[in-house]
Amino acid sequence: MDSILRRCRNCGRYTMRKDKCPYCGGDLEIPHPPKFSPEDKYGRYRLLMKIMSGKIKLDKSVISAVLGLTSTDSKAQ
Ligand SMILES: [Zn+2]
Repeated sequence: MDSILRRCRNCGRYTMRKDKCPYCGGDLEIPHPPKFSPEDKYGRYRLLMKIMSGKIKLDKSVISAVLGLTSTDSKAQ
């Protein structure tokens, strides 16, 4: 799907115009947001890695909740 949104190189504002920025007249570019998946299968594993490596400090109750979510979700999908 092609984006109808354009972003101004000059002021960084978003517009649906294709020729030039309606705010400052600057050149437009097609914004390419980083790919984002709402169902990031590895997101939880990365989170778990951070927890286990000690980069994130959490309560044990939170950690067990995350672990619980991981096991139930892998069964659901
Ligand atoms: Zn602009």
